[in-house]
Amino acid sequence: MTKKQKKLMIRIIVSAALFAGGLFIPHEAELFSVMWFIRLVVFLAAYLTAGYDILWKAVRNIAHGQVFDENFLMAIASIGAMIIGEYSEGAAVMIFYQVGELFQALAVGKSRKSISDMMDINPESANVERDGEVLEVEPDEVEIGETIVVKPGEKVPLDGVVVFGSSGLDTAALTGESALRDVTVGDEIFSGSVNANGLLKIRVTKPYSDSTVSKILELVENSSESKAKTESFITRFARVYTPIVVGSAVLLAVVPPLFFGNWSDWIYRALTFLVVSCPCALVISVPLSYFGGIGAAAKRGIMIKGANYLETLSKAKIFVFDKTGTLTKGSFSVSEIKPEKSLGMSENELLELCAAAEKISNHPIAKSIVKAAENEMNREIPTAENAEEIAGFGVRAQIGGKEILAGNARFMVKEGVFKEDNISENSSGTVVFCAADGKYAGCISVSDTPKENAKEALSELERLCSAKKIMLTGDREKAAEEIASKLGIDEVHAQLLPDGKVKAVEEIFAQKPDESALVFVGDGMNDAPSLARADVGIAMGALGSDAAIEAADVVLMNDNIGCIPLSVRIAAKTRRIVIQNIVFALAVKVGVLVLSAVGFANMWAAVFADVGVSVIAILNAMRTLSIKE
Ligand code: ADP
Ligand code: MG
Repeated sequence: MTKKQKKLMIRIIVSAALFAGGLFIPHEAELFSVMWFIRLVVFLAAYLTAGYDILWKAVRNIAHGQVFDENFLMAIASIGAMIIGEYSEGAAVMIFYQVGELFQALAVGKSRKSISDMMDINPESANVERDGEVLEVEPDEVEIGETIVVKPGEKVPLDGVVVFGSSGLDTAALTGESALRDVTVGDEIFSGSVNANGLLKIRVTKPYSDSTVSKILELVENSSESKAKTESFITRFARVYTPIVVGSAVLLAVVPPLFFGNWSDWIYRALTFLVVSCPCALVISVPLSYFGGIGAAAKRGIMIKGANYLETLSKAKIFVFDKTGTLTKGSFSVSEIKPEKSLGMSENELLELCAAAEKISNHPIAKSIVKAAENEMNREIPTAENAEEIAGFGVRAQIGGKEILAGNARFMVKEGVFKEDNISENSSGTVVFCAADGKYAGCISVSDTPKENAKEALSELERLCSAKKIMLTGDREKAAEEIASKLGIDEVHAQLLPDGKVKAVEEIFAQKPDESALVFVGDGMNDAPSLARADVGIAMGALGSDAAIEAADVVLMNDNIGCIPLSVRIAAKTRRIVIQNIVFALAVKVGVLVLSAVGFANMWAAVFADVGVSVIAILNAMRTLSIKE
């Protein structure tokens, strides 16, 4: 319990004790007698102890022009009860209401804690090597370039590169994946993971404020604050609902007594009516449900940036995927090398030439060619004198005085190496063509395989929300079709330039039905505009990629495509629970409202119903925190 919650609890206990004492004072005491006065003071004390802050909030909100909120309803009902002489009722309203508030605070605290527990990634200290000594300092005191020591069992406090040792890293707190990740000298390593076995020395590459841990904690904090549409629906609803309720209460207090007399009885009914009408259960349980859903997702390494995205995900009908690295592993391997015979180059010469040009590129295709060449040559690949990458086409480089081009057929056509895109259509996979001084020099086929669970994940999406699955790629038609048919993709757009992907997303967007949502799934590398354009942009494998974390609405820390149907399931469950709560709360409210209007429910029953509904709604909301595998 926090200090604030303890204080509230003490207030409730004191107030309840006063209240209990008050019940012993004879009720029938004559108006303005000493007994009457003592009774009034005792109940008033109980009332104010429990409810002074509610009264104050009501006054403050009225001053700010927000008249009709739950504080107002409680204030007016309890003050009304006091005025008509129902002192115990007035005090009881406040006490029960505060019990509900306390319960709510505890529930929110619990779900917040379960998120922060599982997000137990914040390092307390770092062991930094300075002048031959190891010092324990705060993580934010370590500077870039310094070396830190992480012993087995310790949390990695800062991002960096391993300079000594090798070990298995437990990244479960970050990615939700339990398998250890092997790291050794030269590997990049992320803060928040736990060093499972060997001693590691790490050269720090980022200040603490830019580290993975800080980014993720920031993400979690922001996401729990942003509001969902259903929440704003409740605010809107309250704006209409509350005045109607207050209006009806006034009518109930004034009209019937004009005919039947018995003013205080009808006023009492009207006040009861007001208490019942308080929408607390909704005001509390809806945000709590979203909070729980976001927490359940975070446990699996799925960071949802706001409740509104969780809401939108539950309406997802169209999923657009980037091919490389999203549906496929993104690690190409060279399958065939075909030098052009007339130039008399050997396979190895062609591979080396291409690799030298590709060295500047970070594209997975380029990396695979460089790797294959290094393995083949057993020596360093020469570095190009001058090289540039043309996104969506390939690379151009100066090597040994020759101009080398390596890239797709479109690139060759653009550069006038050959006229039509008509070469090697029979080879499978992706083909990188190579040209030297404008002459065709041969081609290298590389192939990529779909992720193991990609097919399963896509068919689960189909099952969950009859999703339409579309794949976008800059790769050629044939390679794209091969992957698409393996995975059961419904529609393929191939040979897209990087900006063509956004255009494709926009076209698909324009055609989709209004109520359904479009989800774009990419790796956040070249597809930030598409991630931003979609209703929900999901970036995969974002651990360590700031660009992806920035651009996406939902960030998957791991590379597991199965997290996409899982996110959809969490969204659907959260939405289901929110709707259950809204329907349940409204049904009980309407029932008790009717009973109180005809005089069958007294104010106690009303408050009890209100608190009871809130408690049940809260318990139901907390179900969102758990999710079945
Ligand atoms: P995708 O992510 O769908 O593969 P890209 O825009 O990254 O799309 O690349 C599109 C195509 O451009 C690739 O399939 C490849 O044919 C070609 N390409 C891009 N960069 C390179 C490169 N560095 N080397 C060779 N080909 C490249
Ligand atoms: Mg890509």
